[in-house]
Amino acid sequence: MIIAIDGPAGAGKSTVAKALARKLNYLYIDTGAMYRAVAWKVLQDEIEFENVTRIGQLAAELNINLTGSVDDLRVSVDGDDITNEIRTPEISQAASIVSAIPAVRRALVNRQQEMGRAGNVVMEGRDIGTVVFPQAEVKIYLDASTDARAQRRFTEDLQKGAAASIEATRTAIETRDTRDSSRADSPLVKAADAVYIDSSGFTIEEVIEQVLAVIRTKA
Ligand code: C5P
Repeated sequence: MIIAIDGPAGAGKSTVAKALARKLNYLYIDTGAMYRAVAWKVLQDEIEFENVTRIGQLAAELNINLTGSVDDLRVSVDGDDITNEIRTPEISQAASIVSAIPAVRRALVNRQQEMGRAGNVVMEGRDIGTVVFPQAEVKIYLDASTDARAQRRFTEDLQKGAAASIEATRTAIETRDTRDSSRADSPLVKAADAVYIDSSGFTIEEVIEQVLAVIRTKA
């Protein structure tokens, strides 16, 4: 079974997807980490965002590896471990910019389809149910109010020592969501057959229970 989890930043996708992967003993694939890896390399090599041809080539050539267990995921690019480096607010914005480039999406979507082909995966992102695996048996669109998402992201950033203010966090996720939802290629949108879950006001455990209830209807 393929479980696709899409939705905007801060809706709780990673926490829910990881918990499901643990419970079901499925492979967890964080596609956002792949866009973040491309963004990291673009910043590292000081490539202009306007240079879409070069960024597209780079995405096709980069050796991005997602390894480790769900509790200890590592992300590496051409052998460099960049697990922690890609979780900064700067990389979040850069990932959203480079992910709008069609050649970048083509390169990464191909790899994601290969990674998920064997089945028994929980894959999270923005276009999993619409583009990467439109035939996924379970599709969840996980949403939350802007306030709830900003608060959640702010708390996470505080723990990493990277938070500026709740206002800055809210502006950053709004900018990213607007860009992700308005791009021409594979915008963030709920698949027609995805189950919509609004996680605001629910605990993570309650949201996981709601997703498990959806999965039970498909099993
Ligand atoms: O999920 P995460 O916040 O790590 O994703 C970072 C960025 O990568 C998103 O804001 C989005 O622009 C892009 N992304 C995407 N398609 C995906 C996953 C992430 O465009 N499947």
